[in-house]
Amino acid sequence: SRVLVTGANGYVAMWLVRVLLEQGYFVRGTVRSESKGKQLDEHFGSYGNKFEWVVVNDITKEGAFDEFVMDVDAIEHTASPVSPESQEDPQEYIRPAVQGTVSILTSAMKFGTNVKRVVVTSSVAALSRTVTGLTILDEKDWGDEFVKAAEELGTKADGILKYLASKNLSERATWEFYAKHKAKLGWDLVVLNPSHVIGPPLQDFRNLGEETLSLQRWYNFACQDQDDDFLKTTYNYVDVRDVAAAHVEAIKKEAAGGERIIISADSSTWQDTRNMMFSLRPDLYTSGVLPRGNAELTSEILLVLNSQKAQKILGIKYKSLEESTLATLAEYETRG
Ligand code: NDP
Repeated sequence: SRVLVTGANGYVAMWLVRVLLEQGYFVRGTVRSESKGKQLDEHFGSYGNKFEWVVVNDITKEGAFDEFVMDVDAIEHTASPVSPESQEDPQEYIRPAVQGTVSILTSAMKFGTNVKRVVVTSSVAALSRTVTGLTILDEKDWGDEFVKAAEELGTKADGILKYLASKNLSERATWEFYAKHKAKLGWDLVVLNPSHVIGPPLQDFRNLGEETLSLQRWYNFACQDQDDDFLKTTYNYVDVRDVAAAHVEAIKKEAAGGERIIISADSSTWQDTRNMMFSLRPDLYTSGVLPRGNAELTSEILLVLNSQKAQKILGIKYKSLEESTLATLAEYETRG
């Protein structure tokens, strides 16, 4: 069976393409330029004619995906602005996130005659909010606070806030589209909401700061100096390989149709993670490579995501914090 993956050169998408190919699917990936397509050939060339890439340079353009959805059985839409060139204008995030999603859903509706399933990669950003006491969130939640804040601050909002807002708004647009057109669609929708994705990238990066944003953020939070208030904060994580597997299961499992599904392994605090890293790799700390943080700090988990639905419907078994963290760290070590 044939699958279209948008943003195929991304951190999550490259693992997704790899797992699909390993499972015998034909994969067509969209990228924004030829050079990005050629980089994919280096990784997936060994799959011969089971893999191809096509250039869609502007995903917001009406009909941009029309010709590429015609012969596929499923679509995985992962492309969305994560680190756009201009981070000033909120629309640099929001417009491609929202219109790119509506654009592929429209193409799938009009021309995806074989399409049975469309999977859209949203984020826990769409359902999360700032919390002060222990809070458990699930698929019924929406985090509109980020959208309001981004609207109020406009160009003054920082990149991350605009990103969080863009994920919320694009997911809302996704469900609106689905509700409006459901009766005449030959496919059903699955929305996946991953938490902070960590784990080894297939994307090439040689120097610090060239890696994908979620790894830059992980490195900053887990491996660089931070104050106690920050070290106490909770984060929720998931391994990129598990996110890829979830996207593949999401096209296979009948019961996933029409569902919004959180993809998240567990919670930790940044100091607890440092403590864990210290216990497994004391050498990195005694040699002064990594800062220890504040080992005396007592930190509590405040934000918990209920991710039982993914286990139940998709059968995902998550990698442990230890495994994902050590694998991420190893990537940085090999790059000095
Ligand atoms: P990457 O930045 O590695 O990948 C993003 C992909 O989207 C790239 O292929 C990129 O193409 C493409 N893209 C970005 N902006 C545009 C645009 N304006 N038009 C067309 N394509 C665009 O990030 P991730 O792999 O981490 O993210 C993949 C998806 O997963 C996103 O939807 C993200 O929101 C979501 N997600 C990620 C999480 C994480 O922690 N990493 C957590 C939750 C959700 P190009 O290389 O040309 O810029």
